[in-house]
Amino acid sequence: MVEEKRGRAESNVSDIDLTDLEHCILCFNEIQFYAMGTCDHKNVCHKCSLRIRLVMNDKHCSICKTELDEIVVASKKDLTWDEFERKIRK
Ligand SMILES: [Zn+2]
Ligand SMILES: [Zn+2]
Repeated sequence: MVEEKRGRAESNVSDIDLTDLEHCILCFNEIQFYAMGTCDHKNVCHKCSLRIRLVMNDKHCSICKTELDEIVVASKKDLTWDEFERKIRK
């Protein structure tokens, strides 16, 4: 038998696991930089987030639908919006 499945990405994506912070829920690619708003959801990569915001003009979080006036793009997954406001923003 030939192993045809070798090297293929997992295709079972019907169940979105919100605790999986490694993969974007929209493009399913590994997240290098995620985009986060006040609701602290980190499940969307910056590319998808920016595409939705800029191209589709939709400023809502893809997960909880909170309207996000601003987002921050970061690579540190344990950063919270609170921390960002306190430490990084002036
Ligand atoms: Zn994505
Ligand atoms: Zn959210």
